[in-house]
Amino acid sequence: MGLPVVAIVGRPNVGKSTIFNRLVGERIAIVEDKPGVTRDRLYAKGEWLDHNFHVIDTGGIEFGENDQILTQMRYQAELAIDEADVIIMITDGRIGVTDADLELARMLNRTGKPVVLAVNKLDNPDMRNEIYDFYQLGLGEPFPISGSHGLGLGDMLDEVVKHFPTKEEEDRPDDVIRVSIIGRPNVGKSSLTNAILGEERVIVSEIAGTTRDAIDTPFERDGQQYVLVDTAGMRKRGKVYESTEKYSVMRAMKAIEDSDVVLMVLNGEEGIIEQDKKIAGYAHEAGRGVIIVVNKWDAVEKDDKTMQHFTQLIREEFKYLDYAPILYVSAKTKQRIHTILPKVNEVAEAHAMRVPTSVLNDLVTDATIMTPPPTDKGKRLKINYVTQAAVKPPTFILFVNDPELMHFSYERYIENKIREAFVFEGTPVRILTRKKT
Ligand code: GDP
Ligand code: GDP
Repeated sequence: MGLPVVAIVGRPNVGKSTIFNRLVGERIAIVEDKPGVTRDRLYAKGEWLDHNFHVIDTGGIEFGENDQILTQMRYQAELAIDEADVIIMITDGRIGVTDADLELARMLNRTGKPVVLAVNKLDNPDMRNEIYDFYQLGLGEPFPISGSHGLGLGDMLDEVVKHFPTKEEEDRPDDVIRVSIIGRPNVGKSSLTNAILGEERVIVSEIAGTTRDAIDTPFERDGQQYVLVDTAGMRKRGKVYESTEKYSVMRAMKAIEDSDVVLMVLNGEEGIIEQDKKIAGYAHEAGRGVIIVVNKWDAVEKDDKTMQHFTQLIREEFKYLDYAPILYVSAKTKQRIHTILPKVNEVAEAHAMRVPTSVLNDLVTDATIMTPPPTDKGKRLKINYVTQAAVKPPTFILFVNDPELMHFSYERYIENKIREAFVFEGTPVRILTRKKT
């Protein structure tokens, strides 16, 4: 079910961002400076011992500017409750328990989600007595920490990971393909979900950005099992946080992480806008299979060149997704809807494909003969050995004499050779270079 999610909540200024930064360290894993991708510190990967998880800093999410602290905290709490497996509530040990803390604790208490209470800003050991006051929040044992000094975080995290789903619960059968349908509001995600499932299971709304429940829908088609993750859904209607773009982007990111194949939906009627590029960037970065689905094709005035032009536009705007197949469909008229799942099967297969090492080495040897590797100051890169280290996405390691000699363009050349030889349509392919030891 993807990585466990930890949400950090607390009133303003208690140190949420400081602790978030501590937990994710320098690894801002999902979001990098790549075309179409912006840095965003709200949602990132953290690591403790052998546990990987996602951290959400709910305090970093901008809600309505005029919202009172309590309203803001209510949204934070709702978000954490919706999204998180474990919630860390941060308080300020230098200030003590405030009314806002009590109110937030009350909201969290009602949900039944595991909450770990941390008392922050206890920068030296003799301040630890300050924690006793915090038992009154009814959230169990308070953990004394100092975000700025990095104290107590280990004990706190030990408690957090205790509440993670166990490995057995996480394990899912390999033969089920998880598909998510992502895209900005109103492109037709829910309509597509309905069209694919073949029944009116999700309510479609006429109003842009209105929300439906996020549902995992398991189903079977032609002997293949799928789970469809509908990201259009968000729990409650009309809440402020649902209309914030950051929230919907975060939602999409989680769905992407949870799936094997992502259907990136565009609105054929409206073309491509900035938000589309952002979301597509996440899909690429996450290393999932990607299919670009241009919906509402029925509503587009067409001649015999229209599809070709739209394809050109997509290739220009989403350069990094050059491996993604493009389907032109209409959820409304059901045009080409039946091509989606067969394409999903192909992409899922490519995403999980393993290439035998011997074949791979022959291929790379041939490639280096055709185009010799780069040199620097008279020294030539030599690729000694290639192996596929991982699937989902296919990841290849080139063992070389000196990784410094590798060029991006040569890596790209090797990737293209691999892609020519094997059908990796729809999946990113990662190439890593390591020194042969
Ligand atoms: P947020 O609003 O909850 O995200 O809080 P911030 O992380 O922005 O921190 C608010 C203020 O508290 C900043 O000035 C931090 O430097 C300070 N702060 C955070 N953690 C600690 C801590 O452990 N000890 C002390 N003394 N100050 C801290
Ligand atoms: P979501 O916000 O991405 O889930 O979008 P919805 O599925 O709610 O659809 C948004 C609007 O677009 C609704 O009014 C749908 O009826 C309409 N719509 C969805 N798919 C199509 C399509 O293929 N063609 C046309 N013409 N309209 C569509």
